[in-house]
Amino acid sequence: MTSRYWSPLINRLTPYIPGEQPKQQNFIKLNTNENPYPPSPKVKEAMIAEMERLRLYPDPNADVLKEAVSAFYGIPVDHIFVGGNGSDEILAHIFQGLLKHDLPILFPDITYSFYPVYCLLYDVSFEKIPLGDDFQIKIEDYFRTNGGIIFPNPNAPTGCLRPTSEIRELLSKNRDSVIVIDEAYIDFGGESAISLIKDFENLLVVQTLSKSRSLAGLRVGFAVGSPSLIEGLERIKNSFNSYPLDRLAITGATASILDRDYFDQTRQKIIASREFMSQKLQDMGFVVLPSKANFLFVRHPYHQGKKLQQLLREKGILVRHFSDQKIEQFLRITIGTDQECQTLLKTLQEILYDR
Ligand SMILES: *Cc1c(COP(=O)(O)O)cnc(C)c1O
Repeated sequence: MTSRYWSPLINRLTPYIPGEQPKQQNFIKLNTNENPYPPSPKVKEAMIAEMERLRLYPDPNADVLKEAVSAFYGIPVDHIFVGGNGSDEILAHIFQGLLKHDLPILFPDITYSFYPVYCLLYDVSFEKIPLGDDFQIKIEDYFRTNGGIIFPNPNAPTGCLRPTSEIRELLSKNRDSVIVIDEAYIDFGGESAISLIKDFENLLVVQTLSKSRSLAGLRVGFAVGSPSLIEGLERIKNSFNSYPLDRLAITGATASILDRDYFDQTRQKIIASREFMSQKLQDMGFVVLPSKANFLFVRHPYHQGKKLQQLLREKGILVRHFSDQKIEQFLRITIGTDQECQTLLKTLQEILYDR
């Protein structure tokens, strides 16, 4: 469809398509990397109390949340940006405010598919850098002139992690543009690049509460970097919306960050299930990329990815398939509860061996 009322910009866009959110509740949902466990009980308690105050606008700076993140990571508050509508909206501000320059930005050819969408929206030129044959990011391929660099670590949808030593090397070779590390999955076994912030003024680390803190429905993220980068993001945010984080989001997110024990318990459970699943899938003949995320990226030498996805769907299990030619043989499977993992394994057994 098109319309004469549209701006030229709209005609140029190719919007992001998120994974399916079925209306029926009876699917086992392993397709959008949600956490299978509920958020900390403290989140609910805090949000119910906050409902009394919904009459009032929220704190535009969300200071309690900034202070919780500051205490969690031991970094000053002026190094922290908090954002509403998930880290996706923070990423949008980053593309518009920190990555849009004359030179093209760099990101991997296989990565979070929102990045090229933002490039079109904000008219940012980009170059895709191919992953290695092992589906790993080759850091030395980024040692070149650029308008900025962004990738997730661990990468999506591969789940593969690069060590902090390599991020440090990249930063020491690239001081002229902003390097954004999207740490949506860092809590499932990686080491955050936040430790490098003190040494590199051009590093911005982005995190979300959607995955490791079970709050995908609340839409909260944050970014950590030097005060100059943070101030840049604040300027964009305050030119767009004073209150991207509502009262319930600020309160729930803060309670979640403060409950360290619950956070550690759930992520350790997911890490243990991931290792178990990885082994079981390999026993079934799947090639499983090494993952430090809450999902596995797998392919079977004798079964097509798309076909497996459809057969699983018919049996009530949703997993994600990407049609990009380089990864069309793969399935991305989110780690579920023990029960969900068992059902997936049993169903795959049936599909692979019984028909
Ligand atoms: C899930 C995800 C995000 C964003 O999540 P939000 O729910 O918007 O916070 C960002 N980057 C990557 C790589 C993701 O997988």
